[in-house]
Amino acid sequence: MQTVRICWFRRDLRLHDHHALSAALSGNTPVLPLFIFDTEILDTLTRPYDRRVDFICKALQEIKKTLRTMGSDLRIAYGNPLKVFSELIKEFRIEGVYCNRDYEPYAIQRDRAVEQILLQAGASFTILQDQVVFEPHQVTKDDGTPYTVFTPFMKKWKQKFSSELLKEHDTSTLPRQLLSFSDESFPDPVSMGFQHTDMLFAPPEPDRNIIKNYADARNFPAIHGTTRLGIHNRFGTVSIRAIVKLAAGSETWLNELIWREFYMMILAWFPHVAEGAFKPAYNRIAWRNNESDFARWTEGNTGFPMVDAGMRELNATGFIHNRSRMVVASFLTKHLLIDWRWGETYFAEQLNDFDLSANNGGWQWAAGSGCDAAPYFRVFNPSEQLKKFDSRGDYINTWIPEIKKGTYVKPMVDHAFARNRALEVYKKSLSVA
Ligand code: FAD
Repeated sequence: MQTVRICWFRRDLRLHDHHALSAALSGNTPVLPLFIFDTEILDTLTRPYDRRVDFICKALQEIKKTLRTMGSDLRIAYGNPLKVFSELIKEFRIEGVYCNRDYEPYAIQRDRAVEQILLQAGASFTILQDQVVFEPHQVTKDDGTPYTVFTPFMKKWKQKFSSELLKEHDTSTLPRQLLSFSDESFPDPVSMGFQHTDMLFAPPEPDRNIIKNYADARNFPAIHGTTRLGIHNRFGTVSIRAIVKLAAGSETWLNELIWREFYMMILAWFPHVAEGAFKPAYNRIAWRNNESDFARWTEGNTGFPMVDAGMRELNATGFIHNRSRMVVASFLTKHLLIDWRWGETYFAEQLNDFDLSANNGGWQWAAGSGCDAAPYFRVFNPSEQLKKFDSRGDYINTWIPEIKKGTYVKPMVDHAFARNRALEVYKKSLSVA
């Protein structure tokens, strides 16, 4: 039986500056690169046209192509990871499995179970820090408890930061250390019941001008003023260390990367947020949860142009600008009084850059139920948002052609009425003991 070390790729789909790969390569044992299409995750995806699945397939094709030029390959498995590892144990003498840490509740529980199987088989299981500059327990208050407010977290993050932390994890011994084998399976969405999509894959080359001008341009959804790196940060097609290096000189943009780590930290310390409100009192909000209102919101037919343009952008492309994310989330939770989890789930289905921690954090922020959330009585006025952030109407006219034709629907609710209703319902629900 061949002895191997396995590098298990998950949300780190690249070969450079990769902590787990670098660690796996550090011995003399040949390394088998592995990716598992995890059916526990795939089975939750409701739409055959899913750009994320296509994106993953394309990223894996790139990895495969490179590994093949080195006389090796990427082993691709499909199924429940526990079963996959149970089979691999029969095929190889596994010295150890190396992977990068994932902070989502499902991933934590999966990794514990995989570890058990491997330990029983005499293999080690090593999880390494890779997708964040600081792990959730590394930036805490002086007494070791977690921050729940962003600004002090961000200050402590910057205080602890040093450029040493951005040192690359060397994978240059790659060709020498790889197991020679070939794997004929081709990562393709269709073979798994999904479709090809319009999603292109190119290794990210962030536009430095966007980063330089970020503070001025980031709030205007008609402008290409943000980096669109979300999906790459999500699937690790770029290393976070390389990304943070680019932030030199743009504090505002660096702060966004720190928000990413803040929400990952919150999810790791307070996993209950994945199911309910960070502040438990907000689980008592008496939502209206009207299904036809929800349908109008998803379709972008509310009659509020900033809301509808955002939802149509999301439905058409899988991306929605951050300003619009805040406006549509506020509208759903406050104007329509629909449970933030409905919106969170819809975003989770549609967003190319969907990430449980950031999405959950964004939704709870909008609903007022989150850590460091906007106070519930701050209700966005969608018309004021339009005046401030799309005053020439470029964004709304791009996504809502009916405006120019004069056939655009009337607002589905009166702003002042909806605002007062939200304030009353929130106040009443929160005051119940
Ligand atoms: P840029 O603006 O260029 O920022 C660079 C990177 O920083 C992003 O790619 C992302 O990785 C990170 N980032 C930026 N803003 C935030 C933030 N507020 N919180 C956490 N990370 C951030 N972001 C996601 O990555 N996945 C989500 O599922 C997600 N859902 C959201 C839901 C709501 C309701 C809201 C209000 C925000 C959500 N965000 C989410 C945060 C933010 O909107 C996106 O990260 C950003 O719009 C992505 O655009 P970009 O890649 O051009 O990022």
